[in-house]
Amino acid sequence: MTATGIDFGTTNSVVAQWLGDEAEVLALDAHHIDADWRRPGFDFLFPSVVGMSSLRRGPLFGWEAKLRSEEAAEACKRLLKSDEYVKIRGRRYAATTVAASVFQAMRDGAQHNLTTIERAVITVPANATGAARYRTRAAARFAGIEVQALLNEPTAAAISYVHDLEEDVQIMVFDWGGGTIDVTMLDHQDGFFEERASRGVTELGGLEIDRRLRALVLERAPARTAWTPAQQRQFGLDVERSKILLSSQESVTVMTPDGAAVQIWQGELEEAITDLVDRALAPLEQCLNDLHMAPRDVDAVLMIGGTSQIPSVRAAVAEVMQKEPVAVALCDPMTAVARGASIAAAVLAGEVDGVIQVATGHALGTVVKDNIGRKKFSQIIPRNSPLPWKECKSYTPLGDYARGLSVEIWEGDPDRPLDHPDNVQLTEFTLAYPRPSVREESRFLLEYTYDTNGLLHVKATLEHTGEEVLNEEVKSFGSGGPTPEVLKELDALMTGTTALDLPASVVAQNPGRPVPTPPKPVPSNVKAASPGAVGAPRVLVVDGSNLAWIGRSPRQPGVYESGDRPGYAQLESARAALASRYPGAEIHVVVDATFRHKVAEEERAAVEAALSKGNVIQPPAGTEGKGDALVAAIADDTGAVIVTNDNYIELQSRHPWLRGKGRVLGATYSRGVWVFTPRTCVAPRHRVVSAVPEVAARALIPPSSRPLADIEGRIHEE
Ligand code: ADP
Ligand code: MG
Repeated sequence: MTATGIDFGTTNSVVAQWLGDEAEVLALDAHHIDADWRRPGFDFLFPSVVGMSSLRRGPLFGWEAKLRSEEAAEACKRLLKSDEYVKIRGRRYAATTVAASVFQAMRDGAQHNLTTIERAVITVPANATGAARYRTRAAARFAGIEVQALLNEPTAAAISYVHDLEEDVQIMVFDWGGGTIDVTMLDHQDGFFEERASRGVTELGGLEIDRRLRALVLERAPARTAWTPAQQRQFGLDVERSKILLSSQESVTVMTPDGAAVQIWQGELEEAITDLVDRALAPLEQCLNDLHMAPRDVDAVLMIGGTSQIPSVRAAVAEVMQKEPVAVALCDPMTAVARGASIAAAVLAGEVDGVIQVATGHALGTVVKDNIGRKKFSQIIPRNSPLPWKECKSYTPLGDYARGLSVEIWEGDPDRPLDHPDNVQLTEFTLAYPRPSVREESRFLLEYTYDTNGLLHVKATLEHTGEEVLNEEVKSFGSGGPTPEVLKELDALMTGTTALDLPASVVAQNPGRPVPTPPKPVPSNVKAASPGAVGAPRVLVVDGSNLAWIGRSPRQPGVYESGDRPGYAQLESARAALASRYPGAEIHVVVDATFRHKVAEEERAAVEAALSKGNVIQPPAGTEGKGDALVAAIADDTGAVIVTNDNYIELQSRHPWLRGKGRVLGATYSRGVWVFTPRTCVAPRHRVVSAVPEVAARALIPPSSRPLADIEGRIHEE
């Protein structure tokens, strides 16, 4: 098995393999690069794009997708932050599935290079959230890649550089790519890398520079005709290619779709982007300030990412840092991250002597109930713990004579509420008591061991007797691999055949290439009391997980009392009420995995039947897709009205129409009567997130100490 590193980028991905004495970068897709895009080093890039062309049944990937598709899903990596939906050929796929298809295409590309990718170290941005990390790992898993470790991009770049030098150095990594700029300060001492500060600006990258060049060209040769979408796309590609050429030549000639030829000089572009370059320097200065460092305290400046290759950018960084950045020959801007990841993979596999220290990017723990019965994250292994790491904590069941407990394994951020998207449940184990006894004698020590391969071992021993009552392993998170639903979705995407199981009417409205559907405003006279009024909503999308919980759970979503259950009958009564108030409206009911999981035993069969008939729909299991994202995606497509009491804060920036009038009906349920009233979602308030340093609770908690909290006993109870 060859040690492999994958830089899964927003714009371009790169794969490198360790060949015993050096890293080799794979030319995954070189044969698909058009002659005018052939440039030194571009062979090694695999554009992270999934595209469609009317000439082809299945999807296009890599260079073909970038250069030849009519419709393309780009930057799915960015969507992994919240696992949004991506629409391709009118069909909706979870972002994790789209990312998985890119990993799959890279695996296929490796085969053309007569090698395979079985397992790999995969890089993620330094600031990636726990959930984004989880989904990256899940996407790679779905494509059949075993994930040895996730490594932060700047650390990977630094590894590729330091590998040859073995010195103690302060390294600044300036990564300016297609969409964002990230600056990270690393300390390398005795083989350990520590990320000491990381700052960045999102939405400042190559795309913004393309826009400036485009404006320069159009200033000289304004469009004389209305360009077709294909012409627009081609012009966009020509502008990007010209921008890249301007990094190494004095001038370029850009052709507009009208046939006008415009010559642009390097100096002109430089001048047009000075403000962007200034903004890119800000995080660099912030990092220095954060650490009270002066430029001379930095030993090496690594410039990586495509945009860092612009000569004026390099010059500006050199000026601020008062030294020349590391030469391109020693740190290749496009491949350093993948190379470093492959070296890390080799070290982890024991093929290279090394002291690369992998640390957890998120906390690991379980879920307990606090003294007022609320579920919360109980941290066992803190974030940033170097691996391997072992830690244990003492827990007690809530009641006497528990026969078994369910122990949930979570990763994420203990400082955030359990239902925050950064917190993800990995799996759940059953702890069985050999002899049910009183609480005090049921206390157990829960031990987590996280090894360098990214495997988590979970062990529980009774404190009273020392007996082992649980011993399990959580293999490659994303637990155990793709579900049949995910495989089906992935297969549908790869072959361009069957769609995600959505009601035919939804899919049928978007045959072939999706045409943006203008939102159909609902006139304000659509009051719940005017059945069948003119202008009544044509399509309603019901946030079933929300409606089924009305009146049943504490206000805080995601926090359930053990007796709390969503009501499927209640949800169906809402459907019936909507159907009678808006006759003729098409109604879609969407539920999430929690609903399915928590619904009462006696309603389960009805729910499964409704799901299989398509009367109720659910995001594909295993994609971590959230119900509200699917609700919003369907409503976006069909101009539908959403029925919910949620405010959809996270989705408002992607779907600004949520804040508009007439797109949301609020629901109230009281004594069997549903009342629906038009409402709007409020704009999210600016949230200030303070960076609280993690307290590393490394010491074992002595068995005699008071348990921090109690685990809820749920299974095997009479
Ligand atoms: P990411 O890490 O976001 O996937 P990359 O590091 O691959 O991105 O950078 C891609 C961006 O860099 C694109 O906008 C591309 O146009 C730009 N780019 C690539 N090469 C050059 C170059 N030589 N000069 C200027 N921009 C470049
Ligand atoms: Mg990158």
